[in-house]
Amino acid sequence: MLVLKNIVKDYSAGDARVEALRGVDLEFGDSEFAAILGPSGCGKTTLLNIIGGLDRYTSGDLVIRGKSTKQFTERDWDTYRNHSVGFVFQSYNLIPHQTVLSNVELALTLSGVSREERRRRAAEALEKVGLGNQMKKKPNQLSGGQMQRVAIARALVNDPEVLLADEPTGALDSETSIQVMEILRQVAKDRLVIMVTHNPELADQYATRIIRLLDGKVVSDNAAGTEGTGAEETAAENEAGRKTSMGFLTALNLSLNNLMTKKGRTILTAFAGSIGIIGIALILSLSNGVNRYIERVQRDTLSSYPLQIDERTVDMTETMAGLMDIDLEGKERADGKVYSGGRVTQLMSSWMSGVTENDLTAFKAWVEDPANDIDRYVSAVRYEYNTPLLLYRTDLDKPLQVNPSTVMESSGMADMMSMMGSGTGIQETMMNTTARRMNVFVPLLDNDELLKSQYAVLAGRLPEAMDEVVIMLNSRNELSDYTLYSIGLRDQGELKNQFEQLMRGVPIETEELEFTYDELLDMRFRMLVNTDVFTKTGALWTDNSGDADYIARKLEDGMELKIVGVVKPAKSGLFSESGGIGYRTELMDYLLTKVRESEIAQEQLANPETDVFTGQPFSAVAQDALTLLDTMEVEDFMEMLESKGLIPAGMIPKEYRMFLTKDLLRQFVGQGVMMISGNTLEANLEKMGISDPDKPASVYIYPKDFESKNRIAEKIEGYNAQAGEEHAVRYTDYVGLMMDSVTTIVNAISYVLVAFVAISLVVSSIMIGIITYISVLERTKEIGILRAIGASRRDVSRVFNAETLIVGFAAGVIGILVTLGLTVIANIILSNLTGIPDIAALPPVAGVILVGISMLLTLIAGIIPSRIASRKDPVVALRTE
Ligand code: ADP
Ligand code: MG
Repeated sequence: MLVLKNIVKDYSAGDARVEALRGVDLEFGDSEFAAILGPSGCGKTTLLNIIGGLDRYTSGDLVIRGKSTKQFTERDWDTYRNHSVGFVFQSYNLIPHQTVLSNVELALTLSGVSREERRRRAAEALEKVGLGNQMKKKPNQLSGGQMQRVAIARALVNDPEVLLADEPTGALDSETSIQVMEILRQVAKDRLVIMVTHNPELADQYATRIIRLLDGKVVSDNAAGTEGTGAEETAAENEAGRKTSMGFLTALNLSLNNLMTKKGRTILTAFAGSIGIIGIALILSLSNGVNRYIERVQRDTLSSYPLQIDERTVDMTETMAGLMDIDLEGKERADGKVYSGGRVTQLMSSWMSGVTENDLTAFKAWVEDPANDIDRYVSAVRYEYNTPLLLYRTDLDKPLQVNPSTVMESSGMADMMSMMGSGTGIQETMMNTTARRMNVFVPLLDNDELLKSQYAVLAGRLPEAMDEVVIMLNSRNELSDYTLYSIGLRDQGELKNQFEQLMRGVPIETEELEFTYDELLDMRFRMLVNTDVFTKTGALWTDNSGDADYIARKLEDGMELKIVGVVKPAKSGLFSESGGIGYRTELMDYLLTKVRESEIAQEQLANPETDVFTGQPFSAVAQDALTLLDTMEVEDFMEMLESKGLIPAGMIPKEYRMFLTKDLLRQFVGQGVMMISGNTLEANLEKMGISDPDKPASVYIYPKDFESKNRIAEKIEGYNAQAGEEHAVRYTDYVGLMMDSVTTIVNAISYVLVAFVAISLVVSSIMIGIITYISVLERTKEIGILRAIGASRRDVSRVFNAETLIVGFAAGVIGILVTLGLTVIANIILSNLTGIPDIAALPPVAGVILVGISMLLTLIAGIIPSRIASRKDPVVALRTE
């Protein structure tokens, strides 16, 4: 069976070499009960470990069934230990956290025996040693003799050919020793048993052969009846083909059982490990929630916000850059020199280039062209014109012009505004656009259905005819004070006082007013056609808009507008509209026609060369002036314009003129940023309120839903591409931009936070690694046992990897569960603070990924400890207590 040929084993302990075995020659038969006797330290254990494949010989050879082991690989040794050898130790070496049955099963698990078979065979082995009724107990619930019998059952369960017992009775009293020896004698009937013992009496009594060892040498051997040593046998049963390997489930089970024995520590570790996960999961919940909320708002509310394309738009980027002194060009500047920076010029030129003219005539034609195929994305299109509705409230002492609003003028704010930046194109553009925005009277959507879905009717109904209007409150049932002042529900004189107070630095207080729906519905409005204010005397026209009596008289024939209802937005959006009074677009269509048909309009349009107010031809002053510019210096030119009264004095203050160049001036004049006076046809038409129906000032396109908005934007891009530079329209989707930037900010903040919290995740992983290392130290003995019963290095590292995976999984799951709990609390707090329900919500995928990350990190952290574990010398491991 086994042949030892001149086995030598040296240990190097520090500098000293210990010769534990110095040439041992032994042969063992198939069934013997050999006892090895010898004083302590003579090399008995070493010999046994070498025979059992637990330790490697330094030189010589161990022949197993005729096969030399010189070329054995680690795996071959593992297989040999698992299939052919059973170990019994003095100190039993049972795994404390496994039941008796599991301890016995373990060797079978390693050789890949099925579960039922395992159970059966383990139970059988325990039955044989008389422990059939103790299988569910843990080792520490047994007596020493019982534990040793469990160890024997474990050694036998694989039906090995060799049973190696190292002082099996060394820790037992004589009575139990005899029990154990009896069992060993039974076992030795059909296999080789090699037992190391101190006790010569027991050896004499039970062993069939006694080998005495002294200082690493055999000194006596009564090898009587040594038959069938097997030296001549060839490797008949080559078991090298049957590899041992521990299934991952076994590894998990082993680790899980081990972890269960120290629940407190495991839970604490997992909890500590979960803190990083909690942090990240919470941040993700919040940012995900906020982003979802933004998206929801976009979907619910913003889809009803139209795409707005204005005749003139202002690109504020350059202006902002100019104001904030941001260097957009990124010029190289070296220290040691002083450079001239641009600020005023930058500002001025940005004002210039900032104003973009959109050709809305062509655009309108495109929008209305069925071939463009945007109809299916559009729920309504609305046009606004520069023609203001001329409306008055007639149920007061004297008529009050309510539209265009007189609030700015009467409060004195308009003066201040014009003082701040007179005559520049950008200011004018902004004023125009703002003025229209600030209009109290706003056109309603052309689509009745959409209108009904967007507004909740509080009193009366929505307008159905041209002369019907409706009061629109904001979602908090308010009318802005601007509206109230405009339509005379608050006294404009009061505003003027307040404005003056403010200018003197006195804080103001406004009392809150309340109105009933009836009070609002009782107001009376009349409309004048814009050209009604002009009268003809002789051949020339005069403007009577300043003549209150004239207006009052005219108003008697004016069209009466009926307030038919009070409404508010059906949904409260993020951007609440300020409210106002809504009229149907038919009213504007009617007005445009009326204006156009008026006598003065007809006359002016028929004679585009002549000013109907003066009877003089429109001057070509601007053109003439510019030709002069070629021959003059800029400063002289400006002075000349001023002295001739062609521009308002101080339009561009003297101190800024040095920044003007001729090119810039030409641009200013050409683009109408700087007006060189003299009436123009355009100015007259604007004064009369004549708008070309084909030339809107703004186009509003209402998308059907959120996706449609993007489709429409794409369509417009397509239009721009084919319309060319000249007719391309530019617009800014401010709401979309704002939402985008909010999303970007939210994301950026959450990434930064996640990065911070990730540090705590790493820290907790390291901690788990350390705890795994402690576990490795604690389970050194177990590692030795596993190796003794045939576990490979990989199996051992697998056990510890399984352990870290379990801890990582527990940490992840605890983290996610705690986060879910915290999100509930966070949501209660947040909904109290913001009124938005269910903001924080962890995306399920993120939860799963975070658990995965937690497992991965702890696995990585555990790799080093688990390698340390797998590298442990099984002999050393078994020696540790
Ligand atoms: P015993 O006969 O008491 O079982 P051992 O086989 O355990 O003796 O030890 C034999 C000799 O080898 C002893 O001198 C012991 O100190 C030495 N020895 C055993 N294992 C090691 C080791 N891992 N490193 C160094 N010396 C060892
Ligand atoms: Mg020993």
